[in-house]
Amino acid sequence: MSSNDLRAKQLERLRKEELDVLVIGGGINGAVSALALAAHGARAGLIDRGDFACGTSQSSSNLIWGGIKYLEHLEFPLVWHLCASRNRLLDLFPGSVREVRFLTLPGRVLKQSLPSLYAGTWLYWLLGRCRTRPPKLVPRSAMADREPALDGSALKHGLEYSDACLPATDARFTLDFVFAALRSGAAAANYAEAVSARREADGWLVRVRDRASGTEFEVRSRAVINAAGPFADGVNSLLGVSTRFRHVFSKGVHLIVPRLQRKEEVVTIFAADGRPFFILPFGDLTMIGTTDTPVEDPAAAITDEDRAFILRAANTYLKPERRLSESDIIAERCGVRPLALEKGSRAATDWMALSRRHRLETDGEAKALTIFGGKLTDCLNVAEEVVEEARRLGFKLKPRDPLWHGALKTVGRGPADAAAALIELGGER
Ligand SMILES: Cc1cc2nc3c(=O)[nH]c(=O)nc-3n(C[C@H](O)[C@H](O)[C@H](O)COP(=O)(O)OP(=O)(O)OC[C@H]3O[C@@H](n4cnc5c(N)ncnc54)[C@H](O)[C@@H]3O)c2cc1C
Repeated sequence: MSSNDLRAKQLERLRKEELDVLVIGGGINGAVSALALAAHGARAGLIDRGDFACGTSQSSSNLIWGGIKYLEHLEFPLVWHLCASRNRLLDLFPGSVREVRFLTLPGRVLKQSLPSLYAGTWLYWLLGRCRTRPPKLVPRSAMADREPALDGSALKHGLEYSDACLPATDARFTLDFVFAALRSGAAAANYAEAVSARREADGWLVRVRDRASGTEFEVRSRAVINAAGPFADGVNSLLGVSTRFRHVFSKGVHLIVPRLQRKEEVVTIFAADGRPFFILPFGDLTMIGTTDTPVEDPAAAITDEDRAFILRAANTYLKPERRLSESDIIAERCGVRPLALEKGSRAATDWMALSRRHRLETDGEAKALTIFGGKLTDCLNVAEEVVEEARRLGFKLKPRDPLWHGALKTVGRGPADAAAALIELGGER
């Protein structure tokens, strides 16, 4: 079955079937929610107006991490929680989530002393339940030929610690969950945009535009989940749902350049204002980022200023002959972090201090649930909370299945397994 046939079949199902839950938005949060609901016996549908994972879930730093930088804001419970989520993903998806070493170069810009930074990496390791290799101090003598692209004069001691990453990228990780949702019986279609909706006595009628053909049809569903990421507030407007939370946005840009680092490690550097930047492995290339700029518009784009800022930060640490200019940029990634904020409260002046924790808000009467904020790292928890909310909304679901995520089946086993899953799907339904 070709992918066009598969999509046509899925659209047909969305048109005809009466769903328990329609998930709007096929980024990581929508994909895991659809999978978790379908695996627990709900008739679930999933739509995205573009490719699956075409939004924030393809613009991240590809890290599955406990958030060491949140220690600066003393967010110990958040770091404890994210480390547990990271460890769980490391254990469940060894094919797609890998431990990676971070080499941090404190340089001259940081106000913290080396001993306090080093103590921070140990605290982080302890909060991470000692799941990864322990931190270590890299003496200046060992720094010289560690990464030949780095300028020796910028190097003092280095700090090494572990976190985790998605070598095959965030979008691939998300897509694996979409495939798993299909295999669990969900109906899922891309280029299918929710354009309007109305609530009737027995559920929702969501009008969906097939963006490939331009035609529109209605999906009938008892409940809706708004997983539209940065566009969730807009989707709530079209649903007519009002919420206690809303999103504020922080733009994050990465630049892809020719390979800089020798080892398969992430190098952490700091901009002149102390902001951390990552030099990340990206296949045979290197990805540098990210910025963290407050923006009003969730559809923000890269500016010349973003490019210059990242190149300047990287060049401070590079040997003169390896320094980068705009002509070295092979590709760019720009995403907007949706950050949950209670309506009426003002965003912090220190943007980094704004919590990166996700929030689920349910309108019990309208049977509408919105996912605010969140991180790739926390995706399994989001999905499990969604299932619990669905139970509270009165859906009779199967008892909690600890293997709902299909970790031991195909999710996270790589593209070949996903392709096999697609072929298998051709014979189903
Ligand atoms: C620069 C940057 C770096 C990051 N790095 C990390 C990291 O290293 N690790 C980590 O854990 N997290 C990271 N994050 C956070 C993480 O990427 C996001 O929290 C996560 O991807 C959000 O996923 P989502 O599913 O909520 O939103 P999205 O991925 O944006 O998905 C929402 C989807 O909804 C669709 N949609 C919108 N409106 C409609 C509609 N009307 N009808 C149908 N579909 C619609 C969109 O097309 C989109 O695909 C980073 C974020 C950014 C911006």
